[in-house]
Amino acid sequence: MNTPGLVSIVIPVFNEAENLDELVNRCLAACRRMQRPFEIILVDDGSSDGSDARIEQAAGTHPEVIGVFLNRNYGQHAAVMAGFDQCAGEIVVTLDADLQNPPEEIPRLVDHMQEGIDVVGSVRAHRQDRLSRRLASALINRAVQKSTGVMMHDYGCMLRAYRRHIVDAMRSCHERSTFIPILANSFARGTTEIEVRHEARRKGSSKYGLIKLLSLLFDLLTSMTTAPLRLLGITGAVVSVAGIGFGLLLLLMRLIFGAQWAAEGVFTLFAILFIFVGAQFIGMGLLGEYIGRIYHDVRGRPRYFVLKVLGNERRDRPAAPENHPPPSK
Ligand code: UDP
Ligand code: MG
Repeated sequence: MNTPGLVSIVIPVFNEAENLDELVNRCLAACRRMQRPFEIILVDDGSSDGSDARIEQAAGTHPEVIGVFLNRNYGQHAAVMAGFDQCAGEIVVTLDADLQNPPEEIPRLVDHMQEGIDVVGSVRAHRQDRLSRRLASALINRAVQKSTGVMMHDYGCMLRAYRRHIVDAMRSCHERSTFIPILANSFARGTTEIEVRHEARRKGSSKYGLIKLLSLLFDLLTSMTTAPLRLLGITGAVVSVAGIGFGLLLLLMRLIFGAQWAAEGVFTLFAILFIFVGAQFIGMGLLGEYIGRIYHDVRGRPRYFVLKVLGNERRDRPAAPENHPPPSK
């Protein structure tokens, strides 16, 4: 699916009923200023606060709005992927539904999508989030820059624009745990960044509690690198070498100072044992993270299940839900 000149805006929505009306109005106004065809795809990620009804209403009122409804909550990145599967734009812009990313910045993003640029990222100026969140972001940005080699300063900001072929490449990835900005950059050749405004969340609350944030962090880590697995081996080797060295030292001390001295070393051995057991558990935990993901992927279940797609008929596209195909074996 590809319509020349069309710009698609993909927005994941999870319990954002209070923000939706303003979001739709501001997006429509901003997009009309671009003077080119556009569509706004609102993906309801299993909301329970009536967001779905509002999306349904918006899709019925505005011909540019398309509603995609997932049967339950799959998470922000899976919801964006569901939007990617339904959009037809030559340029695809993603943004959050909570109005922290001002929709007025969309035309600027599209303007920066020039020849040779595949991804336009954004940096949040004067970020309106708590210090803990900002610190976590800084750490993550550093790690991502190191591992992908792509210099972007703000991987956490979802106000981004992608070219069609980047979106198609992402859609061909069937892994379940994805982190879209990193995935996109792994396919991009030319990238650029612009500074955008960032606003505090005025209505509703952040959907990322501690558990969800941790899970996102693990998604990010495993989607990016298998270095922790290597680190596990290195740590294991270092620990065993140190253990052997320590054993030899103890033996030597026993020979010099006699059995009396060795008995007093029992507690030292206990301490060492505990350190070893701890290291093993950390290792097993990390292995578990990967094995869990392998398990999800080999099951080959669809990434999500679309119940219905509204507003699609007008564009001469299949009315039936188009679910993500399982990976080909
Ligand atoms: N979101 C989603 N599914 C989720 C969690 C979040 O679709 O499971 C959407 C949410 O509606 C919002 C965007 O992802 O549009 C970012 O979420 P949020 O603003 O809560 O994140 P924060 O700004 O706190 O990082
Ligand atoms: Mg937000």
